[in-house]
Parts: sequence; C-alpha cells; structure tokens
Amino acid sequence: MSYGVGGLGGTVVLGFFEIPHTSTELMAIGGSAQRQNAFNWGVEAARAANARLDDFDQKVVVLNGGGNDHGKAAGGVTFVYADTTPLEPTFMFHELGHEFGLDHSFSDEPAPCALGDGRPGAYCDFTDIMSAMNVSSFQDAMNRKSGPSLNAVSRKWLGWLHRSRIRSFPPVGPPETLALAAVNRPDVDGYLMVQFAGTSREDPAASSTYTAEFRERSGWDRGLGSRVIVHEIRSDGLVRMLRSNPVGILSAGGEFVSPSPSTVVRVESLDTMGHVARLRVWHLPPTGSRDVRIVTVLFDPEGPEPQGEYVLIENDRTGSADLDRWTLQDAAQHTYRFAALTLAPGATVKVWTGTGTDDAENLHWGRHQAVWNNTGDIAILRDAGGTEVSRFAYTA
Ligand SMILES: [Zn+2]
Repeated sequence: MSYGVGGLGGTVVLGFFEIPHTSTELMAIGGSAQRQNAFNWGVEAARAANARLDDFDQKVVVLNGGGNDHGKAAGGVTFVYADTTPLEPTFMFHELGHEFGLDHSFSDEPAPCALGDGRPGAYCDFTDIMSAMNVSSFQDAMNRKSGPSLNAVSRKWLGWLHRSRIRSFPPVGPPETLALAAVNRPDVDGYLMVQFAGTSREDPAASSTYTAEFRERSGWDRGLGSRVIVHEIRSDGLVRMLRSNPVGILSAGGEFVSPSPSTVVRVESLDTMGHVARLRVWHLPPTGSRDVRIVTVLFDPEGPEPQGEYVLIENDRTGSADLDRWTLQDAAQHTYRFAALTLAPGATVKVWTGTGTDDAENLHWGRHQAVWNNTGDIAILRDAGGTEVSRFAYTA
C-alpha cells in the first residue's frame, strides 16, 4: 500500500484448483478453526497440482461458494465467498495487513467499535484500514468498499517510512514550524510523521509516544476528510487514535496539547493543492501556563555585550498576542517599549539589547551599553495597561 492506493503488484495467481469438499462443508465455514480448515484445503489442492506455493511468503486462498467468511489463518489469509459476493478491497487489504503482521488499530475509547476483537477501542481508528470495516471508506468503480490506507505508525513498522522523513522532537528545545506532507504523497517534500515523547493520557506515571500525520482526502484516503491525525502509542504497544478530550483530529487552526510536560502541535494551515500541512510544534513551561512569557535571557553572550544580549519571548497562548505598547524592564527599570507586533500562537521574538534592523522575530532596543547584569537580574514583561505578564529572574 503506497502512493495512496492498495496495490497487488507482484501478486501471482497460481491457478484455480478443485477442492474435494462439498458446498455444504463450505457453507458451514465461519470462525477461526473452520477458516483454518478452508485455508488448508486450498493449500492442499494447490500442492497436489504442484503449484509453486513455497516461492511466496504470503499466501491467499479464495474459495468460491459457501457462506461469507474471511480472515487470517496460520500460513495465510482466506476468503470463502459466495459467487455473488464481491471481494471488497477494504476487507481484502485489512486481512492482508494481518498477513503482514499488523494488529488491529485502536482509539482511546473504552469499548471496541465492532465485534470480533473485545479489546477497548479496537476497530475504532476510522482513518486506518486495520480498523475495517468501521472505517471511512469509499465506493470504487466497481461499487465495492475501498480504503482507507494505513496510518503512519504502521507504515513505519513495515519499513515503508524512512527515518529521514520522521521528525522526532526532544522533550525540551526550541519551537519549530515544519511541513508535513500527506502520508500518501511521499513524492512531496516534507516530513511524513512527527513524533514526541510525553506523559500517557491514561496513566500519569507512564510514558507514551505521540505521533502526528497528515491524511489527505485523495487516493485511497478519499473517504476521509483532510486532517492532521494524532495517535498515542502507549507502553502496551497499541496505537490509539485520540477521539476523546483532547481530540487528535485537527483541521487548520486546531491544536493538540499533550499532558504536562506539554507539547503543543498546532496546524497552521492545510494546503491540499500542495499536499502539505504546516505545523507549529513547541513546548509549554512545566506549569502548563498558557500566556506570553519570557523564556530566557542571554545576559552573558560571547563577544560584545550589548550586541549579543537578548531576551527571548514566546507566545504560549491559544490565540495571537498583540504586543503593541507592552514593555520589557530590568531591575534598574531600564525600559524597552514594543511597537506594533503580533505574535502568533507558538511564535517567538528576540529583543536584542543592541542596534539592528527589526523583523518579525528580532527587535532591537538600540542601546550601546549592556542592560542585563551578569551577576543577576530580573526581566519583567508588562502589557499595554502595565499589568505584569511574565517575569524571569536569574543569578550568575
Ligand atoms: Zn482483523
């Protein structure tokens, strides 16, 4: 399953063989034990006809006639279908996924979404074929259920997602804006998956890995909406789509915030023409507070002091912050006053002590002397009304 479709390229039909079993026997097939029998009958018939079965790692037996049953058996996959029943691609590729070693996919919900697997949340990831048939499928040209494709975690597990296309965020570090290409479009520049470690949403004592991927409404995903989807891989190894608070199904402007220590994944835009989602990823302070804050003061830079000194300010709010007429002050009440500046969520700006040309990420106080004492100082950020918003104290 690549470039957006399930394909059977490389698959060889070894032949059509008679099996020495009656239609009554076929009608009775249902459930895993009998499914294994059906698979074995097909293999035995093929071997009796000297078919080259052993040349293939994966085997599929299709029996025409009988009731409708299908599934994974030891050694391969079997479909036992009446002549009038179409072999639906969604069913077929779900079972082939099992043959390639994939488990069902899950959500964080407490109950399964379909019969056949009683584990909590089983079959509940509607963006992933390993939750078939409880998935967002589409009708293909032969009016059969088709899609969706695989989530990024399964692709990685199968070796289909090169590590150079995965961006792993450490638990601390600077914010980053990045392009996330649709997972069905590996031909498009950008990462295909983002991942970061964090506290489990279920158990504060446990650690999870969170992932984000862009699923585009095209190809085998044309039954889906175009969204960024967040999954949580808990210590039990299962991959859960996050369908309860907070929900990991994100449109443009949507955010996912992991539990403290928090990482924020914000979808800045979805470009379905370019097949790219633009994400802003950053970390909240340990308190989880969502305000504008002073992240750090570089008070003792290498080189000349006033030119190298800066204060780094970040907007951790869910919305934009207008810094017009805000002030930044040291303990000696030297004051820098902001001109019109809008900080988007997750955006940062440096206030340099020295001179230079201002841009969206760099402002200049224009001083010829240092302001931030190397022996210790306090930086205070106040809004236009004079109310303190953030304070950063340090000692040498
Ligand atoms: Zn299954």
